[in-house]
Amino acid sequence: MSQLASAFISRRYSETVNVGGVLIGGDSPVVVQSMTNTDTADVVKTAIQVAELAKAGSELVRVTVNTMDAAQAVPEIKDRLLQMNLDVPLVGDFHFNGHKLLDAVPECAEALAKLRINPGNVGRGKKHDQQFASIVEKAVIYQKPVRIGVNWGSLDQSVLARLMDENNQLSSPRSSEEVTREALIQSALESAELAKSLGLASDKIILSVKVSAVQDLIAVYQNIANRCQYPLHLGLTEAGMGVKGIVSSTAALSVLLQQGIGDTIRISLTPEPGKPRTEEVKVGQEILQSMGIRAFIPSVVSCPGCGRTTSDYFQHLAQQIQGYLDEKMPEWKNQYAGVEAMSVAVMGCVVNGPGESKRANIGISLPGTGEVPVAPVYVDGEKTVTLKGDTLADDFTKIVEDYVKTTYG
Ligand code: SF4
Repeated sequence: MSQLASAFISRRYSETVNVGGVLIGGDSPVVVQSMTNTDTADVVKTAIQVAELAKAGSELVRVTVNTMDAAQAVPEIKDRLLQMNLDVPLVGDFHFNGHKLLDAVPECAEALAKLRINPGNVGRGKKHDQQFASIVEKAVIYQKPVRIGVNWGSLDQSVLARLMDENNQLSSPRSSEEVTREALIQSALESAELAKSLGLASDKIILSVKVSAVQDLIAVYQNIANRCQYPLHLGLTEAGMGVKGIVSSTAALSVLLQQGIGDTIRISLTPEPGKPRTEEVKVGQEILQSMGIRAFIPSVVSCPGCGRTTSDYFQHLAQQIQGYLDEKMPEWKNQYAGVEAMSVAVMGCVVNGPGESKRANIGISLPGTGEVPVAPVYVDGEKTVTLKGDTLADDFTKIVEDYVKTTYG
């Protein structure tokens, strides 16, 4: 966590859970995870998508395990990833038939770094506890952590019915929304107690209680954060598509993260047709980076432009610099420690250009309408050179490259 963020954010205490070498909770950085949308039984497609997500920065990748073919594919997917030198922990998402799949294909449990169980989808009545126990027993045998992931779209109806009955006996009953929120929390906490009674250690348990409405998500997580010490996985479920999904997720997660709540996050975006699945990873990273909680890639600070920028040159330059940083980062992150915290300012005119450029590690203040067609460059707050002419973009890119080599080399 950056000094700036740590001055404002006091992280909620939680246990630390080791998920295939990635630490979740305690003082560990907030972890970004994602989920595939391929048919897990298709080993090649799923391995390729997991690799894409991991290369984009997903530190855990969840795959659905819904059929016997999918369960059998998991060890093969893991092998293919290892052949690509990618040891990203895989999380298996089980619903309805997880107990049968793990019984029949124990290699699946072995290959996974974590099992996700939804207590609302493990069976009804007596079967619920038996089937839940069967999955937890596999986690105990193979020493895997479990995320107990409650979701409002599949809330355990027996918990809800019990709480509704109790509520009806009260002289001042709570609203059905409040009872539903409490049912989500109790489903998670009671399932964790059941898992512990079956031999799962408390440092092998992560909880989530996902809903799709921002204010409900904040209320539910604020409540559960005070009632347990398990690490919490955050995410606004069914966040939606495009700007709506990004803004809703950001609004909900930012409030919670600012309060020190949340040890791992996933952004549940509906991908737009043709857009890469990796967008959810980038959004998760950007939330953490913009809040000063973690840094993943150098940031470009650029102004929105206004009537003082009659050309779109500065937009192109900002885009070029962002593209350059994106392209270079996979190579730089192994060579230049700390480069991810660098900031580069690309500003449209003299109004805020010099000031913002001085605050960044490197900044350029382009000429606005009517200004002398030259662009002063600032490095660590000092004006170092003035660029002009057709090679301005390439000259500025070279300055950024040299700064990275000399500062972080
Ligand atoms: S820095 Fe200049 S160009 Fe950019 S928004 Fe401000 S006034 Fe407009």
